[in-house]
Amino acid sequence: MAISDVSKIHAPEPHRHVKPPADPSALEHEQLLQGEFWRTIPAYKDIDEPTFLDHVWQYRNSVKTVDELANTVQDLVSPKFLEDLRTGFHRAPMNVRVSPYAMALIDWANPYDDPIRTQFIPLASRLLPDHPKLSLDSLHELEDSPMPGLTHRYVDKALFLPTNVCPVYCRFCTRSYAIGGDTDVVEKAELATDPKRWQDAFDYIASRPELEDIVISGGDTYQLPAKSLKRIGDALLDIPNVRRMRFATKGPAILPSKILTDHAWTEALISVVDRGRTMGKDVVLHTHFNSPNEITWITEKAMRLLFERGVFVRNQSVLIRGVNDDKETMRLLVKRLGFLNVHPYYVYMHDMVKGVEDLRTTIQTAIDIEKFVRGSTAGYNTPLFLCDAPGGGGKRDLHSFDYYDRENGIAVYSAPSVKPGEWFLYYDPIDQLSKDAQARWKDPATQDAMVADAIKKAKG
Ligand SMILES: *Cc1c(COP(=O)(O)O)cnc(C)c1O
Ligand code: SF4
Repeated sequence: MAISDVSKIHAPEPHRHVKPPADPSALEHEQLLQGEFWRTIPAYKDIDEPTFLDHVWQYRNSVKTVDELANTVQDLVSPKFLEDLRTGFHRAPMNVRVSPYAMALIDWANPYDDPIRTQFIPLASRLLPDHPKLSLDSLHELEDSPMPGLTHRYVDKALFLPTNVCPVYCRFCTRSYAIGGDTDVVEKAELATDPKRWQDAFDYIASRPELEDIVISGGDTYQLPAKSLKRIGDALLDIPNVRRMRFATKGPAILPSKILTDHAWTEALISVVDRGRTMGKDVVLHTHFNSPNEITWITEKAMRLLFERGVFVRNQSVLIRGVNDDKETMRLLVKRLGFLNVHPYYVYMHDMVKGVEDLRTTIQTAIDIEKFVRGSTAGYNTPLFLCDAPGGGGKRDLHSFDYYDRENGIAVYSAPSVKPGEWFLYYDPIDQLSKDAQARWKDPATQDAMVADAIKKAKG
């Protein structure tokens, strides 16, 4: 190539391709709710900042009954809404418990469509019949348990449930078979806090050299007293085969100020993380934000504290109808989490649990949202969308179905490294299907034929 040709190649372009400035809405994720936002709630109008941030005050004032709710919001809601609520509380498979922080973030002018109300407060008028293929322990966690409160499904990781209480009760909880006290509708498996049971779990983990990774969930790590958190953390770190641990909690989403005011708890967590680091072991916090509305200046402050003290935080969301099942909301959530240095790890399809059919979405909805979110921020801050296959197949990339009958809402998955040779089925909520498909689901014989056909097509 002649010298003159080279200079041509490197010659400056006649014009530059400047990306047009982003629309101001592209910065919406940075606009966090500020100030004393809780004062709009009648019961909190005289509550000052130190009181509102105090975790003890938050727990004491959590709303557990319809009367408590009515006394908190007073004339912000209509008598008709309260009636709807009363019937909803009776029919719910889960207890109700809502922190003042979450109560203050609900838009009481329109509670029917509010994403935080939808997650925690049942309304009779919104309930739909359960899918005919639904079972209570839909993930078969009980079946993969060598002992109560320990699930060993995957080769190298296990799920340890030290407690069955949570700082809040989520309507969509996967573990509604065990979490919370008995309600009118469901009798729970017993998972109460019990150190003897914990020791049995530690002994089992130590006896299985392949177990490198322990998820400490629940219930919820927020509910462990600092002493217990430290004791569990240290006991697991002392097991030579344990290399990685994650403490799981919904807490930062509904009570972020605990991280700022419960010093004993926060320091216990940090001490386990620090000790793990000196041992070459990875200890992180997994949390569970579902709505961008859950994230305020208080959340930012709490996440900043953890970041500065070296606690890495990952987030797992559930895709919930009316909460985050539209593209813009999910993108806002993902970008807001990234802004706080919280790593958006997973978005799960809603599990097939009782009494919450109104919260589920179709697999196709999730595929469409994923396509929109990918490309809007760093790849490592883009969550993987998953289906935790009912029946114990474990987590599957939701795109990896062997067959998806979109018309009848049946997705077929296989899991060669978890349960080779088996098929796992996820069903779209029936009310989201065509009228013809809804009619087919009314007939048990047709149901079985549709399922058999989907499995046959998956086999190819
Ligand atoms: C989700 C889960 C884990 C952890 O899985 P990751 O994909 O590594 O996050 C471990 N055990 C059980 C039973 C689980 O459900
Ligand atoms: S915090 Fe987690 S374990 Fe507790 S009710 Fe909610 S989803 Fe279930």
